[in-house]
Amino acid sequence: MQKGTIQVQTENIFPIIKKFLYSDHDIFLRELISNAVDASQKLKTLSSIGEAKGEYGDLNIEIKLDEEKKTITISDRGIGMTSAEVEKYLNQVAFSGAEEFVKKYKGQNENAIIGKFGLGFYSAFMVSDKVEVFTKSFKEEAPAVRWECDGSPEYMLEETTKADRGTDIVLHINEESAEFLDADRIKGILNRFCRFLPIPIYFRHKEEEKLEEEKETGPINNTQPAWKKKPSELTPEDYQSFYKELYPYNEPPLFWIHLNVDYPFNLTGILYFPKIKQSYEIQKDKIQLYSNQVFVTDEVKDIVPEFLMLLHGVIDSPDIPLNVSRSYLQGDPNVKKINNHITKKVADKLEELFNKERKEFEGKWDSLGLFVKYGMMTDDKFMERGNKFHLFETASNAEGAEKKFYTLEEYRMAAETLQKNKEEKLVILYTTDMVQQDAFIKGAEAKGYIVVKLDTLIDPSFINQMETKWNDVHFNRVDADIADNLIDKQENLDSVLSKDEESALKGLFDLKMPGLNMTVEVKGLSTDAPPVVATRPEFMRRMKDMANLSGPM
Ligand code: ADP
Ligand code: MG
Repeated sequence: MQKGTIQVQTENIFPIIKKFLYSDHDIFLRELISNAVDASQKLKTLSSIGEAKGEYGDLNIEIKLDEEKKTITISDRGIGMTSAEVEKYLNQVAFSGAEEFVKKYKGQNENAIIGKFGLGFYSAFMVSDKVEVFTKSFKEEAPAVRWECDGSPEYMLEETTKADRGTDIVLHINEESAEFLDADRIKGILNRFCRFLPIPIYFRHKEEEKLEEEKETGPINNTQPAWKKKPSELTPEDYQSFYKELYPYNEPPLFWIHLNVDYPFNLTGILYFPKIKQSYEIQKDKIQLYSNQVFVTDEVKDIVPEFLMLLHGVIDSPDIPLNVSRSYLQGDPNVKKINNHITKKVADKLEELFNKERKEFEGKWDSLGLFVKYGMMTDDKFMERGNKFHLFETASNAEGAEKKFYTLEEYRMAAETLQKNKEEKLVILYTTDMVQQDAFIKGAEAKGYIVVKLDTLIDPSFINQMETKWNDVHFNRVDADIADNLIDKQENLDSVLSKDEESALKGLFDLKMPGLNMTVEVKGLSTDAPPVVATRPEFMRRMKDMANLSGPM
C-alpha cells in the first residue's frame, strides 16, 4: 500500500478558476464589491472594539469605469492591507481572510462578513488581462503597496504612495470582456447584485464626469433595506414603499410577513402576498434570495415551499449554505428547516389575520384562497393550520342575499342536520358556474341547503384532494343528483308529474342527450325556479371536469 499527497500545480489552477468556477462572468463585480464591503465592515468592527484608532470618516465604495483606458476600478476606504497581508491573502489561493477574521472576532458582528471561500478575488481574472491592487492599511505605520498580476502564478509586489487608507483594485479588462466597458452593462450588474449592500456604492464613469450635475447622483444602493430593520420601526407605508422599490409596476400587495429569526438560524426578509385577480396572472420566481444583503438568486425552490413561490419579496440568510459560486445548495438539511419555518410563519400570519380581522380577511379571500388551497393540498402540516382559516364562500344567488363565508367547522354546524348523506358524511354543495347553475342553486337554497362557490381553476383538484384528506366530507355539485346523495328532508313531497309523464320526459332527454342517463323529477322547488330539473349522475360530471383541466395551476 502506498499513501501520498496530491500535488497541486498552480499553473493549472488559474485556468480552472477562470473558466469553470464561475460560469457567470458578471459576478466578478459582486465578488470584488463584497470584498470592499467586508473591508469596510471590518474597519467598523475594529473601531468599535478600539483596535482601530480615530474616526474612520465615510466608508463609501466607488466603482469607476474608464472606457478609454479600458479599466474598471473598485475603491474602498476599509481596512486595507499591509505588504505581509497582501502576501497572505492575495497570494494564497483559497485562503480566506474573511473566514480568518470571523474566527478571530467571534461575537463582534461577525455575521456581517460576506467572504468565505478565499476564491472570490480571483474572479477578477475572468475579465482582466492584468489586475493591480493599490492598498494602504489602517495601521498607520504600514506603507502602501502595489500588487500586480496578469493571471499567471507570478506576481509583483512593491511599495507605493497612496494618500488614503483603503484599497483600489484596478482591472485591465481583456479583449473578450469588452462588453463590461459599458456604463449601462455595469449599472445593470450593480443593480442586480449590489442594490441592497450595507455600504454606500457610487458609480462613476468618464462620460458622466463631463456632465457636472451628474456628479450629484447618489449611491446606487439602498444600504438599509426594510427587511433589515425591526418590524417595530416600520409603518405600513414603509412596507408598501419597499414593495414599490422591488416591483415598481405591480399593484400594491395585500399584506406582508416580516421574517426575523436569529435562532436556530439567521433569517430575515419580507414576504408579500400579491393581489391576484386571475390565476393565470401569477408570476412565479418573484422572491429574491440574499445572503448578507448580497443578491444570490431568484430561484428559491426548496427554500420556499412550492405553494408560497407565488409570494413576492426578499429572503436573506447567511445560513443558507452556498457553494463557491454562491448558488445555494438544494437539499441541504438547513434549507429544509428554513422552508418549514417559512411555512409556519405564513400560517401564523394568516391565522392571526383571520382571528383579528376576519372581515378584512374575507375581503381578500379572492386572492388568498389560491395560496391557502394550494398549500392545503400540497403540505399536510399547512393543511392542519389551514383547516382553521380556509373559507367557503356562499354562492348567494338569491336576490338581496349577501356573501357569507364559512370555515369547514362553521359549515358543518350550519348544514349538518340537513346535508348529510347515507354514509353520514357532511355534504358540501357547490357550484362551478353561478349563471348556468342558477336554477339549481336557487332550488337548493329554497330547500335550506348552503351552496358554496368553487369555481376557480384550482377548485376541481382541491375538491378531489380534500375529499380524501377530510375523510368525513363529500363534495356534491349542485346540478348533480342531490337527492341521491342527501338525506332529503323533502323527499316525501309528491312529484308534480305522474310516473308516466316522468318517464316520457326522461325519454325526451335521453333522445336529445344520449348516454347521460338523466333522472327527471318535478317537485319541491322554489317558485322562481323552473318546473323541471334534470340531473345526471355526479360521477360523470366530475370526470368531465377533470379531463378538461391539467394540474392545479
Ligand atoms: P474571501 O472574501 O472569501 O475571504 P477572496 O478571494 O474574495 O476571499 O479575498 C481574499 C482575501 O483578500 C480577503 O479575505 C481579504 O482578507 C483580502 N482582501 C480582498 N479584497 C480586499 C479589500 N478590498 N480590502 C482588504 N482586504 C481585501
Ligand atoms: Mg471575497
